[in-house]
Amino acid sequence: IVQWTPFFQTYKKKRYLWIQLAGHQGNFKAGPEQGTILKKLCPKEELCFQALMRDVLRPYVPEYKGHFTADDGEQYLQLQDLLGDFTSPCVMDCKIGVRTYLEDELAKAKEKPKLRRDMYDKMIQIDPLAPTDEEHRLKGVTKPRYMVWRETISSTATLGFRIEGIRQADGRSSKDFKTTKAREQVAEAFREFTAGYPHAIPKYIQRLKAIRATLEVSEFFATHEVIGSSLLFVHDASNANVWLIDFAKTTRLPSGLAIDHASRWVVSNHEDGYLVGVNNLLSIFKQVHQQ
Ligand code: ATP
Ligand code: MG
Ligand code: MG
Repeated sequence: IVQWTPFFQTYKKKRYLWIQLAGHQGNFKAGPEQGTILKKLCPKEELCFQALMRDVLRPYVPEYKGHFTADDGEQYLQLQDLLGDFTSPCVMDCKIGVRTYLEDELAKAKEKPKLRRDMYDKMIQIDPLAPTDEEHRLKGVTKPRYMVWRETISSTATLGFRIEGIRQADGRSSKDFKTTKAREQVAEAFREFTAGYPHAIPKYIQRLKAIRATLEVSEFFATHEVIGSSLLFVHDASNANVWLIDFAKTTRLPSGLAIDHASRWVVSNHEDGYLVGVNNLLSIFKQVHQQ
C-alpha cells in the first residue's frame, strides 16, 4: 500500500485527493491555477517540456505552463493535472524502456567497482540463484552488475516496460510490481486494473496506437534518449486516456548519433527500447481485450 502525497485539488467545482503513484514524496503539490500541479524543478526536464510544447507529441504530454517559484523559494514546473477531468480515476504508471538508468550512470558506477555487500544481500533476497559462485564466495557484487541485474527482475529488460504502480477506483493502491516479469503476470495486472471498466481497454489500445504513430514522426523522439519516462494510464466510469510523463532522465542524443528505440541495447549505443515497450503494451492490451 502506498502513501500518496495527501493534497486536495479543486477543478471544475470538484474537490479530490490527488494521487501520486511513483517518485519521491514531496516532489509534488497543488498548483497555483486550477487543474495544475507543481513538480519540483529539474532543469533537464524543463528543457524537455519546452521542446515538447513545440513538438507533434504535445497532445500526448501534460501541458507545460512554465516555471513557478513557491513562497519558500523552491522552484517548480507547473503542469496540467492529468487527473482533472476524471471522477474517481483508476491510475497506472508504466515505466518505459529496456533500462531505467543512463549510460552515464552505468559508466560512473564502473569507475570504482567496489564489491557491495548491501547489493549482494538485496540480490539474494529476491533470487538466491542470481549471484555467480564467485559472488557468493565474496558475498558482494559490483554496482554496475547490480544495476544490470535489477532490470531483469521485472519486465523491464524483456518487455521494455514495467508497472510502477496501480491505483484502483476504491483508493487501494499498490507498488508491489518489482518482480512482475512474465507477460502473463502483466496481463493479469492489466485485467485487474480494468476490471469493471471494459470500455477502457479499446480506448487504451486506440490511444497507444496514436502515440506510436506520433512517435514515429516526432522530432523530439528522434533526437532524445528516453529513459525512466512513464506512460500514465487513467480511466474512470466514462473515459480512458494515456499520456507520456516524467522526462527528468530524458536526454538529447549526442550529435550525429541516431537510435531507433527498438534495437538491442549494448553499452554506448544509447538505445532505450522505448518502442519495444509501447509495442508490448499494445500487444498485451489487445490480448486482454480479446479474452
Ligand atoms: P520517478 O522518477 O521516481 O518515476 P518523479 O519524481 O520523476 O518519479 P513522476 O514520475 O513525474 O515523478 O510522477 C510521479 C507520479 O505522479 C506519477 O506516477 C503519477 O501518478 C503522478 N503524476 C505525475 N505527473 C502528473 C500529472 N501531470 N498529472 C497527474 N498525475 C501526475
Ligand atoms: Mg516517474
Ligand atoms: Mg522521474
